[in-house]
Amino acid sequence: AMVDEKDPAAAGLGYVADAKKADEKKFPKYAAGQNCTTCALYQGKAGDKAGGCPLFAGKQVAGAGWCSAWAKKA
Ligand code: SF4
Repeated sequence: AMVDEKDPAAAGLGYVADAKKADEKKFPKYAAGQNCTTCALYQGKAGDKAGGCPLFAGKQVAGAGWCSAWAKKA
């Protein structure tokens, strides 16, 4: 199942399925180019539309998504 943006845990982290819709007022750390596929925590492979994220166990996040826990992939 995909993470629902309205899920309280997701909303608290500012998760959006489309990174371009990140709430930049609430989460000023967002910068263009940040999305789940460029996040160190993302468990999907390059090119996958969705993948796992340890912050949302048992669910999938959109590769094009984003949340405020984004961390640059090494
Ligand atoms: Fe996406 Fe990273 Fe947030 Fe997980 S921690 S939802 S992979 S941005």
